[in-house]
Amino acid sequence: MNANFARRDFLRIGASTIAAGATSTRLLSAAEPAPPRKFRFVHLTDIHVQPELGAERGFRKCIAHVNELRPRPDFVITGGDLVMDCLKVDKARIERLWKLYDDCCRDFDMPVYNTIGNHDIVGWADDSPISPSDMDYGKKLFADRAGRGKVYQSFDFGTWHFVLLDSIGQKPGSRDYLPLLDDKQIAWLKNDLATAAAGKPIVFVTHVPFYTAYMQMALGSNSLPGDKSMVSNAYTLRKDLLKHDLRLVLQGHVHVRERIDYGKISYIQSGAVSGQWWKGPTLGEHPEGYSIIDVDGDSFTHHYADYGWQAVKA
Ligand SMILES: [Zn+2]
Repeated sequence: MNANFARRDFLRIGASTIAAGATSTRLLSAAEPAPPRKFRFVHLTDIHVQPELGAERGFRKCIAHVNELRPRPDFVITGGDLVMDCLKVDKARIERLWKLYDDCCRDFDMPVYNTIGNHDIVGWADDSPISPSDMDYGKKLFADRAGRGKVYQSFDFGTWHFVLLDSIGQKPGSRDYLPLLDDKQIAWLKNDLATAAAGKPIVFVTHVPFYTAYMQMALGSNSLPGDKSMVSNAYTLRKDLLKHDLRLVLQGHVHVRERIDYGKISYIQSGAVSGQWWKGPTLGEHPEGYSIIDVDGDSFTHHYADYGWQAVKA
C-alpha cells in the first residue's frame, strides 16, 4: 500500500534473513513461529516502465492485480529490465524512469526484491551520452535505488533459499553487455550455496535465461540463441549446481512464456509485464503477465497470470 508498509514488512521478513555476500544464520527462539510450509510469491519481469504507451497505468494495473490475489502473495520478486532503458539515454531521462518505478512500487502491499536486467544499467552502450567516468555509470544506480546496495543477493523465506543473480557481464574491451555470471559473483555464489542454502530447496532468479527454446520456436528449428540471449557460462556452472537442491530458475529478458523441466530443475520464463514493450502480446502469443508460484513444503506449483492489459495505440 505504501512505502512504510513495504519497508516495515521488509524489515520484519528480510533484515535478519537476507544474506548478501555473507552467510546468514538465525536461531529461532521458543517464541518465534516455525517458518511457513506454505507460501506464495510472484515473479514480475521485463516491466520496462516508461511515461509512454500507458506503461505507468499498465504497471499499476498489474500491481493492483497482484495485491488482489488470494491467497495474498507474501512477497514480490522482479526479474530485471524494471525501467524502459538506461543504456542509451541521458541522465534526466534515467532519473525520470527510476522515479516512475519507485512511485509505482509504493502501491505494492508486500515486500519487493529486485533483480537487475541489462536495461537497468547506466551507459553500457557505445552510443550512450553518459561517460564511463560519470558517478552513475554502470550498476550503481540499480544497487542504490532498487537493490538495497547490492546487485546480487540471497535471502530465505519459509524453508526455501532465494538467490537474485546479476546475469549481466560486460564484453571485454567494450562498453557493451554480455550475459554471464562474473568470477567474483561465482565465488560468492559457491559460498552462499554451501552455507546459507545448505539443506534448503533453492530458487535462482536471473534476468537473462540460463536456457531457452525461444529462437527455435520463433525463428526456426535450427536457429541458435545469439550471445545476448542466454547466460554464456550456465553450462559450466551446471555440474556444481547439481550438487545442490536447485529446483527453480526464474528467467526473463526474452518476454515469452516458457517452461523447461530438465532433470530436477524447472526453468520458467515469466513472459513480460510489458508484453512486447507495451505494444501488445509478445509475438502475438505471449500476453502481458507474470508468474504465480505456490510453495507447499518442498514442492511448488506455477501458473501464469494475464492481468488483462490492452496495449494503447501510439
Ligand atoms: Zn533484458
